[in-house]
Amino acid sequence: RASKPYRGRFAPSPTGPLHFGSLVGALASCLDARAHRGAWLVRIEDIDGPRNVPGAAEDILATLARFGMRADEPPIWQSTRTARYQQAFESLDRAGFIYPCGCTRKEIADSLLNARTRNTTLAYPGTCRHGLNGKPARAWRLRVPDGDAAIVTFDDRWQHAQTQNLATEVGDFVLKRADGQWAYQLAVVVDDADSDITHVVRGADLLDSTARQIYLQRCMSVPTPAYLHVPVVVNEEGEKLSKQTGAAALDARDPLATLGAAARHLGLALGASAETSFDAFYAEATALWAKRFA
Ligand code: GLU
Repeated sequence: RASKPYRGRFAPSPTGPLHFGSLVGALASCLDARAHRGAWLVRIEDIDGPRNVPGAAEDILATLARFGMRADEPPIWQSTRTARYQQAFESLDRAGFIYPCGCTRKEIADSLLNARTRNTTLAYPGTCRHGLNGKPARAWRLRVPDGDAAIVTFDDRWQHAQTQNLATEVGDFVLKRADGQWAYQLAVVVDDADSDITHVVRGADLLDSTARQIYLQRCMSVPTPAYLHVPVVVNEEGEKLSKQTGAAALDARDPLATLGAAARHLGLALGASAETSFDAFYAEATALWAKRFA
């Protein structure tokens, strides 16, 4: 049976300019696509309205181009896809996977404190599984299975064997809020499926979302892509680089030097010739990546 053609993606949230940490993620997904002679897509994850920064998406796309990364198809904007999220939500609802939840954050925190068993991971305790008890709906949650059926395992191409118990570590998780806000977990699964993504390459900060996404894929009867989570870049305090931790915007004056540093973070031992041109850099980095991952 022939395998499906490789399709990968980089999916930035436009909350600010690209920084070194997000460049590493972009480079890893781009190199993986090149190493497989596959297609590389860019998806702008602009559904988290309050966190979007005007102009950031355009800035990210221009920065990627300046670093020699061009998507093989026009970018996909999540903000244009909410009708698809609604369709997916409705079919999950018809299949009985979803229930409304009226709990406030405080109520959830209180019930966890009162729980007799120690709940160290703050899994939602399922309070509204059997009805709202007159409370207004604040969100809709996906019911996760109990017992062994809640255990999701997968083999990450970088981090190796992974396992998460959705019932004890996550609990029934939110797909949509009453204000209409879509959860990242639903949007990413619908988008990866609609784009026929076969390989997801992204930062390890998303490793613990992957089991939820795989479970959602099963509920929706769509294929599960292969996953590879690259180590995140941390600052001197050991925090993940992000706008919140004050990561600097990328210096695009010497893109080859910056790309070289990103490649070295990925463990690629580039020679000096890689700093002579984009073509030389991408040829060498792709060959080194392919040796490890293709
Ligand atoms: N938009 C997410 C982020 O920037 C990444 C989503 C993904 O790659 O699945 O953290």
